[in-house]
Amino acid sequence: MKKVLFTDLDGTLLDLRSYSYSKSESSLKSLKDQGVPVVFCSSKSRAEQEYYRQILEVNDPFIVENGSAIFIPKGYFKKEVPFNTYVTDDYEVIQLGESVTNIRQTIKELREDLLLDFVCYFDIPPEEVSLYTSLNLNEAKRAMKREFSETILRGAINEKFLRRLKRRGLMSIPGSKFNTVISKQADKGKAIEILQSLYKNESQDLFTFGVGDSGNDLEMFKVVDDPYIVQRPSGEWYDLKDDTVKKASGVGPEGWNKVVEIILNA
Ligand code: MG
Repeated sequence: MKKVLFTDLDGTLLDLRSYSYSKSESSLKSLKDQGVPVVFCSSKSRAEQEYYRQILEVNDPFIVENGSAIFIPKGYFKKEVPFNTYVTDDYEVIQLGESVTNIRQTIKELREDLLLDFVCYFDIPPEEVSLYTSLNLNEAKRAMKREFSETILRGAINEKFLRRLKRRGLMSIPGSKFNTVISKQADKGKAIEILQSLYKNESQDLFTFGVGDSGNDLEMFKVVDDPYIVQRPSGEWYDLKDDTVKKASGVGPEGWNKVVEIILNA
């Protein structure tokens, strides 16, 4: 049986507050030793995910910016990837979302038209982004390297803005602190299904696991064979209103480790 793990990062593999991976590092190594691919699936940008991929020596495909695109290391799959792809750096990319250039252009137009005065990443330098977020300067710089979405940091948006975004094929998703403007086509579930089909192309007997910590992992939970949710720092599990998702005991990385144990013994 070919096992694959799809995993959220913030609050799951990484500690929600410190972004530390120290607790999950050793079980990640066990997965690698068993040859279980670990596919990051998160709202984080490519630059942010590459940072962790490099430190943790994870070389599997990854899904960026809430299902906007799949980055596949060139030559990762032995068979040809039967989807529309483009090549950038050392990746074959399957893009589901919209380019950040187009998204920023639309935001600027609508903001001017509707006389709104909200502030986005592209308006300010990284030093200022660092002030608004809990990110240090380097983290802020990586977070700002968006390719398929834009974040509204402060200032109000309104119904009219949301309607006009929709008409342009975009949507605004509320995060814990900020709103993110992204293509309506971005879809973690769809991105995972594409990767599942690529893995299946190479080994028929595929079984996939998914682990996350919140409502924005729901698209992932719906498409994997065995979904798990870990505890939030409060000790609670996010209320998914979905009994098919199994509760892993342990906050963030500690819950993640429990799921890895299950995977290794499966
Ligand atoms: Mg999370």
